[in-house]
Amino acid sequence: MGKLFFSDGRELALNSIFCIGRNYAEHIEELGNERPDAPVVFDKPAAALLHDGGTITLPKGSEDVHYETEVVVALASGGRDLSQEEARQAIAGYAVGLDLTARDWQSVAKAKGLPWTLCKGFDGAACVSTFLPVDECPEPQALSFSMWQNGELRQQGETKMMLFPIAELIAYISEYCTLSAGDIIYTGTPVGVGPLAAGDHLRLNLLDKISATFEVSAS
Ligand code: ZN
Repeated sequence: MGKLFFSDGRELALNSIFCIGRNYAEHIEELGNERPDAPVVFDKPAAALLHDGGTITLPKGSEDVHYETEVVVALASGGRDLSQEEARQAIAGYAVGLDLTARDWQSVAKAKGLPWTLCKGFDGAACVSTFLPVDECPEPQALSFSMWQNGELRQQGETKMMLFPIAELIAYISEYCTLSAGDIIYTGTPVGVGPLAAGDHLRLNLLDKISATFEVSAS
């Protein structure tokens, strides 16, 4: 079972990994997608989790693995049909992570109407920093985050730019899926996604409080 590590030394056992697609307007435009009426939700296998300091091994057969830098929310408790207030109360903390996507495989899957599990769920496809406990954070829509690839700033986001705010995402998922302590949610990427190459060095920041690094290696 995977674990979630908090900056104050606490740990939580990882349960499910949920992800939100299309939650920032400029990223929807960059991929030529439609703006959704409701959050786009998908998931990743728990084994896809990769912690700060890990090495991303590019999956064999993909020529175009993209990074998507996202705020990741961890839940301390769960339930079903949560109100937005209950959703806020359920949050344990926030991390910054990468939702990795084999974009070439995903384009084929989208065109054929096939699922995204392998495009988004290969080992290492859910990179995550340590979590900042919720009581050390500003409110959820006031988080800023960034990612540098080989020293170059590639993505910079602010949760206030989200189409669907974090409490609404949690409440929405809980209408359909019972949420539990240890669930994490990747909340969507802002503009600026791009490809990874073997040898890349990645650095991620959440506010000025959390940072993480990842190396990239060939399959
Ligand atoms: Zn994403």
